Amino acid sequence: MLKKEMSGQTKAQVTLFIIIGMVMVIVFGLLFYVRGYLIERQLETALLQTYKRPVNLTQEPVQLRERGEQREEFPDRKEMMIFFVPVNYRPDDPEFLQRAEGMASYVRSETGLGQENFMVIDQTYYPRDRSCPDAGLISLHAERWYQRKVGRSLPGVINKGKVPLYRYRVVGIDSNEQDTARCGCGYIYGIYSPQIFIGGHNCSRYNKILMHELGHSFGLCDEYDTCVWIDQDYWLHGAYATSCRNSRPDGENSDCGVICCSEKGACCFGKYADTLYDSYFNIMGSADTPPQRRLSTESKEQILLFMCENLGMC
Ligand SMILES: [Zn+2]
Repeated sequence: MLKKEMSGQTKAQVTLFIIIGMVMVIVFGLLFYVRGYLIERQLETALLQTYKRPVNLTQEPVQLRERGEQREEFPDRKEMMIFFVPVNYRPDDPEFLQRAEGMASYVRSETGLGQENFMVIDQTYYPRDRSCPDAGLISLHAERWYQRKVGRSLPGVINKGKVPLYRYRVVGIDSNEQDTARCGCGYIYGIYSPQIFIGGHNCSRYNKILMHELGHSFGLCDEYDTCVWIDQDYWLHGAYATSCRNSRPDGENSDCGVICCSEKGACCFGKYADTLYDSYFNIMGSADTPPQRRLSTESKEQILLFMCENLGMC
């Protein structure tokens, strides 16, 4: 009898505990959901206001008469657009948005490009080659998205002299970690190319990495090995009858000396940002830490000059 009563009491207690447990799970679940929702809203408004509805891109292309020639203006009236493509990320993934915003704000602070020059493509790209996704295919993904939204291609190539000019850059940001020996921390298809890939490795998660790749897209060569700079300069001569817009690293302006170690990757941090004594290295150097980096006056001047002379952004 007593035994029965006790087991009845225990049962009631267990039921009560289960109910309390369930209520707690629901309350915590709700708190987590609300927190996630608030973080997302905050990110959305903080930056890339355009990521859900790229309003500007739904406008019809505008024909403009400028300097006596017929020119089709970029539909949202921007001279340069930088598109972020989520690779293996959902487009509204807070981590993806945070990385995009971090890189964009770095570039904004260094180049004078504004928030309106950046846009997130709200469609994930799932690469076949997960070990090192192809920046060209990511660009094609962006091109198709743009065609659906705007009804025509991304603003194409204009040749000024032999240098190809694109009024856009496509930047794939991947959540997966790649082997840096194969894929680097990020890469661009070539100097003056608009196709950029930023991986998921730790070294790809610095905000400065996009600035480095964009530097290439505006004609700057790598500064972490004298020989790499020479190779790229040589290649530019052949491909576009031009040369690196930044000067070659040497024993005076960098920690590289005259050693060539391109086989082993970067052999030095690169050129000093401005002087040997201010402890900053230029962004076009290696991804190696620890030195502090910023965009050197030379690199900045060259990027601004390129945008002014070739894209009319002065
Ligand atoms: Zn580079």
